[in-house]
Amino acid sequence: MSDGRKEDEVDLFVIGGGSGGVRAARIAAGHGAKVMLAEEFRMGGTCVIRGCVPKKLYVLASRFAKDFAEARGFGWQVGESRHDWHRLVGAKEAEITRLEGLYAKGQASAGVEVVKSRAVIEGPNTIRLLADNRVIRAKHILIATGGRPNRDAALPGIEHAITSNEVFDLEEFPKRIVIAGGGYIALEFAGIFRLLGAEVTVIYRGAQVLRGFDQDLRDNLVAAYEKMGVRFVLNDTFSRIERAETGLVGHTKAGARIEADQILLAIGRSPNVEGLGLDKAGIATGADGAILVDAASRTNIPSIFAVGDVTNRVNLTPVAIREGHALADTLFGGAKGIKPWQVDYANIPTAVFTTPEIGTVGLTEAEARAQYGVVDLYRTSFRPIRATLSGGEDKVMMKILVDGESDRVLGVHILGEGAGELIQLLGIALKMGATKADFDATMAVHPTAAEELVTLRTRTARFTR
Ligand code: FAD
Ligand code: NDP
Repeated sequence: MSDGRKEDEVDLFVIGGGSGGVRAARIAAGHGAKVMLAEEFRMGGTCVIRGCVPKKLYVLASRFAKDFAEARGFGWQVGESRHDWHRLVGAKEAEITRLEGLYAKGQASAGVEVVKSRAVIEGPNTIRLLADNRVIRAKHILIATGGRPNRDAALPGIEHAITSNEVFDLEEFPKRIVIAGGGYIALEFAGIFRLLGAEVTVIYRGAQVLRGFDQDLRDNLVAAYEKMGVRFVLNDTFSRIERAETGLVGHTKAGARIEADQILLAIGRSPNVEGLGLDKAGIATGADGAILVDAASRTNIPSIFAVGDVTNRVNLTPVAIREGHALADTLFGGAKGIKPWQVDYANIPTAVFTTPEIGTVGLTEAEARAQYGVVDLYRTSFRPIRATLSGGEDKVMMKILVDGESDRVLGVHILGEGAGELIQLLGIALKMGATKADFDATMAVHPTAAEELVTLRTRTARFTR
């Protein structure tokens, strides 16, 4: 090339070594494509490094507090317990470093060339690697750059607040933490920090957290959290944050003053597209900055594709993985007889790893009632067997929503221990189009909490439009 740059050619260039990018690269290479992948931070992406995995480890760490407190009811004499934050952070770091290594190894053994560099797009088939200024020509480009936490840049004192990017590695355990937001991340960290012994306040701009989830889940989770000592400040947001001698002070629009050692912003995430060169290639984005794609994850530029959080469709790891897999099979699977396929977004089960946990699949009650003429509700709330001796106040809530005309189950919502595990399996039933009669025909497993799902015979309510 005239400017002296070296030029390489590949079939697929993947930007981002997270959930979606890694899967697409590995599958494409397995189909015989020449694949290069650039990752600017750490292999594994958000989920492995500062998302799902470390989060779940911290959730598990926090739940021992309950186990210690409740063991006495079962005859255990438990000594004084104390949590060591630094040991947890260190153990987490060792585990995610191990996983990071496995991801790198997986790519290498599939034949993917991984480059540690930021990559930017320079045209429909051109990528520049900033680490060594190399230019790569690619038949296809996949953007899998994920998302990043939102920061309210206009908020005075914003520099004092942290996001989920920093929260896992705090040097000191915050004895008082205020969490702004009412979504997945806010509530998961509220549970983690409260059970690890912090004073926790959640400040949320609306009347009730977890907008979009079934109302019963929202109400029952908040009730359980309040019992646990989490404080909610609703219909309010910060107007200013300042550093005082005793720590941070958050001032709210409604006039409250909340002191804290840390203020965690969990107010959503945005597609990671800044400085990526989308304009140079003419790639269209939506109002939220998300890359616009069709059902096959293709952008308006035929050689460029995007999967995962950067497209802001359903921002969950298994969804990004499946989008990446579908794309690699569609582009390169033909030689192996694999037909093009697309991701089905119906009935995606999901869990919120609060304590108690949320598991949910299908329509909420409000959605079911808006979409179906006759909706039958089966709901139960009970003390799990563990609570009978533990002295704990835990309750399990389960509800099943059924189309009153076809008997098909439209949604299942669970709050309680193991809800994430249960909803994974209920996802299969809903995907298969299970009816309430199928649930009823299934033999119970006794004694479990899950048996309620197949023994709920009495309808709680019937809603007709
Ligand atoms: P990512 O995993 O974000 O990967 C994108 C990668 O691209 C990053 O590694 C980034 O460094 C890299 N990159 C960006 N720009 C460039 C560039 N120009 N050049 C090179 N590299 C670049 N989902 C669940 O399903 N379950 C959970 O329990 C869960 N918990 C979560 C907890 C937290 C705190 C957070 C923040 C998220 C959680 N998620 C969870 C969501 C999940 O992490 C994401 O949906 C998933 O990681 C999206 O995958 P992705 O491939 O789109 O992007
Ligand atoms: P969410 O979209 O879940 O929640 C964002 C929250 O912030 C909402 O309560 C929202 O309020 C509020 N909010 C948005 N903008 C503002 C603002 N300007 N000021 C004050 N509050 C604001 O995002 P998260 O950041 O919690 O998580 C990002 C995504 O990551 C999740 O949606 C999910 O897809 C994924 N994730 C999945 C997990 C899992 O599977 N267990 C765990 C963690 C993350 P409102 O509702 O009123 O808009």
